[in-house]
Amino acid sequence: MNVNMTAEEFCRFVWQKYLVERRYDIMDEVIDGQISVIGTGAHEMCPNIESFVASITRESQEWNGAFIIKDQWYQTTELTEQLSLVIGELAVKEDGNDGILYDVRFRFTMIVRKTESGFKLIHVHQSVPDANQAHDEFFPHRMIEENSSQVIYNLRHDTMTGLLNRLYLKEIVNRAMEEDTDSIMLMMDIDDFKSLNDRYGHPFGDKVLVLFAQSLKAAFPQAMIGRIGGDEFVVYLTGKPDRLKDRIDRFLLDWQESQAVLALTHLITASIGIAEVPKDGNNYDVVWEKADQALYQAKENGKAQTASVK
Ligand code: GH3
Ligand code: MG
Repeated sequence: MNVNMTAEEFCRFVWQKYLVERRYDIMDEVIDGQISVIGTGAHEMCPNIESFVASITRESQEWNGAFIIKDQWYQTTELTEQLSLVIGELAVKEDGNDGILYDVRFRFTMIVRKTESGFKLIHVHQSVPDANQAHDEFFPHRMIEENSSQVIYNLRHDTMTGLLNRLYLKEIVNRAMEEDTDSIMLMMDIDDFKSLNDRYGHPFGDKVLVLFAQSLKAAFPQAMIGRIGGDEFVVYLTGKPDRLKDRIDRFLLDWQESQAVLALTHLITASIGIAEVPKDGNNYDVVWEKADQALYQAKENGKAQTASVK
């Protein structure tokens, strides 16, 4: 049947019959008595013809799906006059009769023997690379790295605002405090935030938090900024900040302007407590407590204002 075929044509023929036409009956014709198969389907490992015939018989009884070949390539190396090594890859769609067409891509190595009645298959090794594995990768490193960096990112950030979360902020601020001699911590809390939630709903409150975070990021691009509680934010500025009051005023102006999208009849204000390193302490917990006390003062004094540690 395949006397005039090349090794590659023979291999294409085998995959067409096996995958697309499901012609298990012609397997007799194409396999060599010494066949061994390492597969990825039900016939995981067949070291000899008996086990291959048994597994393919079982497969034909248990599985009634079909494949559509979308793409394929082959490369042949003639080992001897009779033996050829063919490697390649097939991209197929698998129809498992469950209404879903699965995209499958597999690679193979085939060894074929030329006989008087045509080629016979001596060995097939099939492997399915990870769907995320790039062509030049031995292992899907990129996917794993992307996944783990995503996990690390999620561990460190507040999902809603994208700011640093409480724990990570504390970690990196403490690290920074070991190196910086001068720095400033601003502790901010939105005024009457609870009443916004109560009047306009929680999703509206979320929108306010995101907007507030965006204003912070825009106004303090070099700072470490964290959301440490519901409507509580910390901004850590390293170095001796020039004109701190101007920067805070600019942020507050920015924050006011950004509220246009909320279409409220009143402005949402925030109270701010300021603590200084090293004057007020030299580790996160101590400095934060001082900034929190200053914030408390700002609230006590009527909100919408900034207070420093006394
Ligand atoms: P004050 O001016 O004294 O800060 O008053 P306040 O209303 O802002 O007081 P408080 O700090 O008690 O209110 C914070 C509210 O924030 C309470 C809580 O229901 C709400 N909250 C906490 N986390 C979230 C959140 O993720 N989304 C929304 N929408 N609300 C939150
Ligand atoms: Mg508040």
